[in-house]
Amino acid sequence: MNDSHAVVVGGGIGGLSAALALRRHGWRVTVLERAPELREVGAGLTLMANALRGLDALGLGPAVRCGDHAEAPGGIRDRRGRWLSRVDGAEMIRQLGTAALGVHRATLHRILRDALPASSVRTGTDVEQVGSGPDHAEVRYRGPDGPQTLAADLVVGADGLRSRLRAQLWPEIPAPVYAGSTAWRTAIAFSEPVPAAITWGPAAEFGMVPLGGGQVYWYAALTAPPGGHAPDELAAVREQLGDWHAPIPALLAATPPGVLLRNDIHHLATPLPSYVRGRVALLGDAAHAMTPNLGQGAGQAIEDAVVLGAVCAGGAEGLPAALAAYDRLRRPRSQAIARAAFRAGRYGQQLRNPLAVAVRDTALRLTPARAALRGMARYADWLPPAEPS
Ligand SMILES: Cc1cc2nc3c(=O)[nH]c(=O)nc-3n(C[C@H](O)[C@H](O)[C@H](O)COP(=O)(O)OP(=O)(O)OC[C@H]3O[C@@H](n4cnc5c(N)ncnc54)[C@H](O)[C@@H]3O)c2cc1C
Repeated sequence: MNDSHAVVVGGGIGGLSAALALRRHGWRVTVLERAPELREVGAGLTLMANALRGLDALGLGPAVRCGDHAEAPGGIRDRRGRWLSRVDGAEMIRQLGTAALGVHRATLHRILRDALPASSVRTGTDVEQVGSGPDHAEVRYRGPDGPQTLAADLVVGADGLRSRLRAQLWPEIPAPVYAGSTAWRTAIAFSEPVPAAITWGPAAEFGMVPLGGGQVYWYAALTAPPGGHAPDELAAVREQLGDWHAPIPALLAATPPGVLLRNDIHHLATPLPSYVRGRVALLGDAAHAMTPNLGQGAGQAIEDAVVLGAVCAGGAEGLPAALAAYDRLRRPRSQAIARAAFRAGRYGQQLRNPLAVAVRDTALRLTPARAALRGMARYADWLPPAEPS
C-alpha cells in the first residue's frame, strides 16, 4: 500500500477499470457513483484484442473469457446478405493472439464490480465540483447524508459522455454534439447460431453479435434528426429494416416489446487539449466520447485505466510527471481512434447516395481479407505497459 488516495468519479466500465488499476498499484480508491446502485444498462459490447489485453492486465481476462461470451470475428454484408468483407477468425487469432468477444455489458460490469471491495464504492453520490491544488484535490458531492467533501491525491473523471468534470475544467470545450445517427439496441434470447456481422444499407446499419448462453445482441442505426421517439420503437425499426436478409427479420420477431433502448449518438467533436488538469485526469467517454462505429469506446476506457494505473504506480509522489505521461500516452491514440470512428460512420452506416454505396461495396468486395484485418488490427493491436517487476 502506498497510502495514496484516489477518488474516481463514475462507476461505469471506465471508472471501475480505473479503480481496479490503481488498487493494483497500491492506491486506496473511493468510487463515487451517482446512480443509486452500481449497474450497467445497455445490451452487448464487442471487446477487441486491445480491450481483452487491458482486462488481462487487470487480472480479469479469465473471468471475462469463462463467463457467457462468444467469439465475434466480424464481417460486413449488404442488405441482401451478400458478404462484402469477412474477418478470418483463425488469422485474427494468429495476428492478435485472441478473437474479438461479444459480451453482455452487464456481465462485464459485474466482473469489474465484483473485483472491487464493496466498501470502496459509494452509490447515490452526485459529484458537483472538483478542485485541484498543488498538494491535494477536493471533490464536493451530494450523497444520501447531504453535501460532503472528500480530499484526494488524485481525482479520476470517469463521468461519461456528459462529464460535469470536463465541463468544469475545460469550459471552453463545446459539449458533445449529435453525430447524425440514432441507435436502437437490445440483447435477446435467440437459439439459432448467428455470425457476428454488420449489414450496411443506404443510411442504415444493422449489427448482430452472439453473446454466448443463447443470447444475441443486436443494434440498428439510422441517419435521422435527433430527439426522435416512436410510439413503438420496435415497429419503427421493423418498418425500415424488416425486409433485410435473414436472420434480421427473425431477430426482430424474437424481440419482446419494451426492451429496445434508443439513443441518439453523440460524440466529443472538439478534442480536449489535455486529459489532465492539476491532479484531475479524465478517462473514457469523459475524455474522448466517440461514435460506436469501431466498437472501441469501452476498449479505449479500459486502456486509459490500465495506463493510468501503470504511470501512477509510484503513488502520489511524482504525480505531475505521472499524469503528464498519462496524457502523452493516451491522448494521441484515443483521439485518433475517435476520429477514425467518426469517419467509419460516414463511410459505412451514413452513406446514402446509391452510386457511392455501390462504389464502396465494390471496393470492400475487392479488398483482400488480409488487408481488411490489417485495418482492424491497427486499432486492436495494443499492449499494456509492462508491469514493474
Ligand atoms: C450504441 C452504442 C454501442 C456501443 N458499442 C460498443 C462496443 O461494441 N464496444 C466498445 O468498446 N464500446 C462500445 N460503445 C461505447 C461504450 O459504451 C462507452 O464508450 C463506454 O461505456 C464508456 O464508459 P465510461 O465508464 O467512460 O462512461 P459511462 O459508462 O457513461 O459511465 C459514466 C458513469 O458516471 C456516472 N456519473 C456521471 N456523472 C456523475 C456525477 N456527477 N457524479 C457521480 N457519478 C456520475 C454515471 O452514472 C455512469 O455510471 C458503444 C456505445 C453506444 C452508444
